[in-house]
Amino acid sequence: MNRVGISRALDRLEKLMPAKVAANKPLAKNNTFRVGGPASIFVIADSLHELNIIVGAINDYDLPFLFLGRGSNLLISDSGFAGIVLQLGKEFQKITVAENEMIAGAAVTLTALAQTALKHSLDGLSFVVGIPGTLGAAVAINAGSYKNQMSDIVRKITTYDIHNQNPRLISLNHEEIGFGYRSTKLSHDTIILEAKLVLRPGQSGHIKREMETNWRHRKEKQPLGKPSAGSIFKNPNGYAAGRLIEESGCKGRRVGGAMVSAKHANFIINTGDASAMDIYRLIKEIQAEVKSQTGIQLETEIRMAGDFHEN
Ligand SMILES: Cc1cc2nc3c(=O)[nH]c(=O)nc-3n(C[C@H](O)[C@H](O)[C@H](O)COP(=O)(O)OP(=O)(O)OC[C@H]3O[C@@H](n4cnc5c(N)ncnc54)[C@H](O)[C@@H]3O)c2cc1C
Repeated sequence: MNRVGISRALDRLEKLMPAKVAANKPLAKNNTFRVGGPASIFVIADSLHELNIIVGAINDYDLPFLFLGRGSNLLISDSGFAGIVLQLGKEFQKITVAENEMIAGAAVTLTALAQTALKHSLDGLSFVVGIPGTLGAAVAINAGSYKNQMSDIVRKITTYDIHNQNPRLISLNHEEIGFGYRSTKLSHDTIILEAKLVLRPGQSGHIKREMETNWRHRKEKQPLGKPSAGSIFKNPNGYAAGRLIEESGCKGRRVGGAMVSAKHANFIINTGDASAMDIYRLIKEIQAEVKSQTGIQLETEIRMAGDFHEN
């Protein structure tokens, strides 16, 4: 761990943006699994100016960094994150609507986005209802459900290059983002700041009904009462990951406080006292079991942050 760099970065950030920085901040409340240790430095950038200050510290002290949205597609290790955890704030929570286009900041929640679309009778965002994340992360991983995904509606994004000052802000069109199944070609150190979405003029009653149907469907199929990170694994080509897990006999399997949901086998739930390591081990067990029974290697959809080495 780069203790000297962390301490110097903390001094600088506490001087320049005192109310926005916390040292050794526990992260369990900042992710939907409700697990994980502290961030050495946790900081919120409410403006581009503040983002420049934070990125200056990351670069000058050569620190690891993690962009955090709502932490709903993330497993943070029990030892936490030895570096800077950065969240986007106020200036990145704006939505503007012009005809059938929306421009929204990366920190806007998908729920707020869908509600705004409904208010303006714009169709195309009902599929995000019940996905508890932010727009920036949803674009970064091409989130989707019900055969729809972010790539259907994203026309353009503005990104921020951490390592390159000239230019810092880069506009990428749809093709340049390189969307794939739950993936993009964006590097993990590209921050998405804003996205332009193109929707279809619709009828608000119809959109509302579609949103309600999607929400009902989720409540029926998913264990929403327990902490989780949604689907753990991507669906391998031609297969549903949940079905493979179920057919391999893993439904209900436990490691410590982590359990494969009895309601949806592609969800791992925290039954109350799970550690990040319990969840990590359960993921490895499921992968090994499915591989040995079907020959298929499941790939995680969720991302990991921090150290998961076994002692
Ligand atoms: C109950 C439940 C249901 C879910 N259902 C779905 C579903 O139907 N479909 C689906 O796709 N997902 C689903 N998810 C997973 C998750 O909600 C989505 O992937 C969501 O888009 C993640 O957003 P977040 O803000 O929580 O991202 P985080 O978990 O905070 O971050 C995820 C990744 O994105 C990166 N990131 C965050 N912000 C930015 C940014 N501004 N720029 C670049 N990278 C960034 C992070 O560094 C991290 O690598 C579900 C999760 C839960 C808990």
